[in-house]
This record gives sequence, C-alpha cells and structure tokens, in this order.
Amino acid sequence: MSKMIYLDHAATTRTLPEVTEAMEPYLEIYYGNPSTIYEFGGKSKEAMEHARRTIAESIHAKPEEIYFTSGGTESDNWALKEAIQLYERTNQGKKGHVITTPVEHHAILNSCSELEQMGCGVSFLKVDSGGRVITGEVEEAVLENTCLLSVMYANNEIGTIEPVEELGRIARKNSLIFHTDAVQAYGHLPIHVQREHIDMLSASAHKFGGPKGVGFLYIRSEINLPAFVHGGAQESNRRAGTENVPGIVGMGKAAELAHRRMHLERRRIKYLRDYLAYRILQEIPDVIMTGNRKFRLPNNASFCFKGITGEAAAILLDTQGICVSSGSACSTGSLEDSHVLTAIGVESEWARGALRFTLGAENTKEDMDYTIEKVKMVVADMRG
Ligand code: PLP
Repeated sequence: MSKMIYLDHAATTRTLPEVTEAMEPYLEIYYGNPSTIYEFGGKSKEAMEHARRTIAESIHAKPEEIYFTSGGTESDNWALKEAIQLYERTNQGKKGHVITTPVEHHAILNSCSELEQMGCGVSFLKVDSGGRVITGEVEEAVLENTCLLSVMYANNEIGTIEPVEELGRIARKNSLIFHTDAVQAYGHLPIHVQREHIDMLSASAHKFGGPKGVGFLYIRSEINLPAFVHGGAQESNRRAGTENVPGIVGMGKAAELAHRRMHLERRRIKYLRDYLAYRILQEIPDVIMTGNRKFRLPNNASFCFKGITGEAAAILLDTQGICVSSGSACSTGSLEDSHVLTAIGVESEWARGALRFTLGAENTKEDMDYTIEKVKMVVADMRG
C-alpha cells in the first residue's frame, strides 16, 4: 500500500502486534472450548479469566463484574433494554423511563427508540454548546418511573468528556442505575467505577488496539441485570454462547498495554492534536473547532469548515492518502447533518462541512504537517 496517514482512530484502531501475538495460540494451539471439563479446555478458560482480571483491575471493578460481549453495540443494547426489563419485573409490569442525551451513539439512541416502541419513556437532557450535559437539569428530568440514566463517557464525534462522576453521584442519590457508554474513553482515559459511581459501563476492544467484534459490559454486582442473550450457561448465565476466546485474550492484552502506556501516550497525542488544531485554526479561514476545549479526548480534533461538504473533503483527502471521517463513521452514507452537531447548535451550513481527525499510536509530527498542507489545499480547492 502507498503512504497512508490514518487519522480515524475513533472509527477503529490497528490491532497491536503484541495483541495478535497473544491471540495466536488460542486460534491454532489452545482451541479448546472453555466450558469443557478436560484440561485442554481449561487452558482457554484460564486465558479468558486472566483477561477478565486485567480488565476488572483497569477500572477498579471485581472480575465477576466483567461480562464479555461482541462489542460496544451489544453492551449498550444489553444495558438499556435489560435495565428496563429489570424495572418491569420488579414493578409488576409497569413501564420504566430512561434519561439519556441527544449526543449519544446510535447504539444508545436506536435502543431508546426500541424502548419507546415498547411503551417506555425516554427523556433527553440538554447539552451545552460544547456537548456537555447540564447536570443541574438531571434531577428535573427524573420521573416516578425513571430507572436508568445513560450518558456517554466521551463523545465519538466531538471528543467531549461528560461530567461522569457528578452524574454518577446524582444517579445514586436518586436511586437510578447509572450506565455510561465508555467505548471512546476506555483505554484512553483512567476510569474508576467506584469513585465515579458507575453501575454499568460499555467498552469495545477495537477502539484501543484490540480486535473487532469483542467488548465487555461491566455490571456492578448489586445490579441484578437480566440476561440479554439466552442459551448456555456462559458468563454466569448472563450472556450465552461459546466465548470468543482469541478475541477476549486480545482484548485483555490490549487493555494491559493501553493502561501501561496511557500516561505517556496521552501527552504525546495531545501535543500532536493541539499542533494540528492550532495550525488549522490559524491557517484556514472560516473554520470552527467543535466540542469542549478543556474536557476533551486527547486524540480528537473535530472541525466544521464553512462552504464545503465534509463527505467530499474526506474523499479528496483519501486521494492524498489521508483517512479521516466526516462526522461519525457509523452514519456515513446518510447525508443528514450529524445529530451531535445539531444538538450542540451548529448551523447546517457549518455542520455540512464537518471533518473529524482522531489520532493514534502510529501518528507523527510529519503526519500532522502533511495533513495540514493537504487540508489547506482541499478546502481552498473546494471553496474556489
Ligand atoms: N458507542 C460509541 C460511543 C462508539 O463510538 C461506538 C463505535 O463507534 C459504539 C458505541 C459501537 O461500538 P462497536 O463498534 O464495538 O459496536
């Protein structure tokens, strides 16, 4: 492949070589089913439980509170739909109510639409112009049947970090289950589920150097969340199906590496991100940076350029070997303005020109210089 500068780490990350290496034996050598009673299957079980302990430690949880899933989308669906089920079961079939935000990923938003179809209530909290929840409004949204507050840890489009600890405190005070979609945050930011009063947390391996199709849901031991996938007795009877052992081993390795490298890597990436943002804002007219400047993922630089379309700019940048996203990768193909930009009040003529740059381990200062020059060229050509 010719030179490629990958700046779309919020969409997915490269599986790290150490991760692939850790996974390999569990594909070809120790391929036993972890549910079997013989020693060979026990090898798989052992590796899986090691990954569970690593992940639990990384968020200050207990290993038995970590449930392996197929990724962020499944974890989000499980958390929302079964928290509502739990409420119904313990309240003689009465329908529950969920509080969330308009800037969530579609895994949450479309799960909420499903819940509404089923007769449940959903309320959306207001966010400020940087995409942060206005915490003072949470208690006003609590109804007599509210059972769940679900707010993402950090936004996938604009990188804004939500006031999770405060939200956790409010949820606990009002006896609500607090779920956070930490798909963009886990492995990039330190997370402490106890200090932050988090009851459930979703994460996905491919966002922090692990393989695709595997993730986890943390469920605090006091939360009696019903099963979502029914079948065998795997994952303590809560998530049936033969476990993705190589994927889980890879996720455990990626979690270990991400946490070991987090401190230094965050500083390095933030420096590159700030350099990229500074030069784009200085050297290109009619551009705004979206999202909160202070409470922000260190690798996210998202902008709106007036007078261009983000989709077309991303295609032109691709011809120059640069991979970026025009908003959220999961909703490309749709020509509607991003729901996140709409929620933070960005006008359509700006929102149409959205481009998101998300940095990762392999990016260098030279990549930033090259990218800045190409962005300047593409934007000028499109406006011209
Ligand atoms: N939640 C957020 C915030 C995300 O950014 C994503 C993916 O982009 C998901 C959930 C879905 O995760 P997965 O791709 O593992 O299903």
